[in-house]
Amino acid sequence: MVDEKEFILKNPVWCPGCGHYAVLTALRRAVVKNNLKPEEIVLVTGIGCSSRFTDFFRSYGFHGIHGRALPAAVGIKLANPKLKVIVASGDGDTYAIGMSHFIHTARRNIGITHIVMNNQIYGLTKGQYSPTSARGFISSTSPKGKIEKPIDGVLLALSAGATYIARGFSGNLDQLIRLIEGGLRHKGYALIDVLSPCVTFNKLNTYEWFRKNTLDVEQINHSPSNRLEAFKIILTSSKIPIGLIYQSTEDTFEELIANSIGGAPIDANISLEENNYESLIREITNI
Ligand code: SF4
Ligand code: MG
Repeated sequence: MVDEKEFILKNPVWCPGCGHYAVLTALRRAVVKNNLKPEEIVLVTGIGCSSRFTDFFRSYGFHGIHGRALPAAVGIKLANPKLKVIVASGDGDTYAIGMSHFIHTARRNIGITHIVMNNQIYGLTKGQYSPTSARGFISSTSPKGKIEKPIDGVLLALSAGATYIARGFSGNLDQLIRLIEGGLRHKGYALIDVLSPCVTFNKLNTYEWFRKNTLDVEQINHSPSNRLEAFKIILTSSKIPIGLIYQSTEDTFEELIANSIGGAPIDANISLEENNYESLIREITNI
């Protein structure tokens, strides 16, 4: 059994009280519960406070550029499907600059566990409003209140055809560990959107605010296998639903590719050309 300490690279340097501490702890515990070893994991990040994960979590890692964690992760997963590929990103990183990558990774059902630390603000660049900030939210870039509607990443993932969609909260560690654990076990794309307060720049969406404004779907007999029910709970609940919102079993992109080339499993020990794989990926993805 691997020990949680094996996944410690450095102690985090986020602001005291930042929600991301709980997410890092939850990820370390979830990989241990899934019996994963550091050398079996590639953690991919973009830019933002949440993307400091690659500095603190011990495994293979790739710290990319803003909004582009997913394409790097997709490349890694398709080149070697045996690896456990995890993406840690923020709400700006994912739902603004990385939006198209998010939608297409979700609809292709590529086997990546994606943790989005959603704090409704750009923390690293000192407090601009983000795509998930509420309408009317006051920030350095919206001194009179944000005029746009917010984006709901969970609703978008459901519309795009994602097969594991959960929302956690940094103030509920036990549930967060379970949700990440489930995402790691899931064979397709898994989104875990985490309400993770930025205690320095977001004075509205605090731990207390989330406690009052969330609804744990595990307490109301929600059926996560029913897509219509999942839409209904997201669209009709007056509070933000947390817990496992939706899960289904479908072929992954990796499996579909393997089937397209005659059912042969991808052999990570030979070159992509020998696998007749690279040209096929290019053909399918238009890249
Ligand atoms: Fe966390 Fe906000 Fe500090 Fe960044 S600025 S480390 S998100 S509390
Ligand atoms: Mg953010």
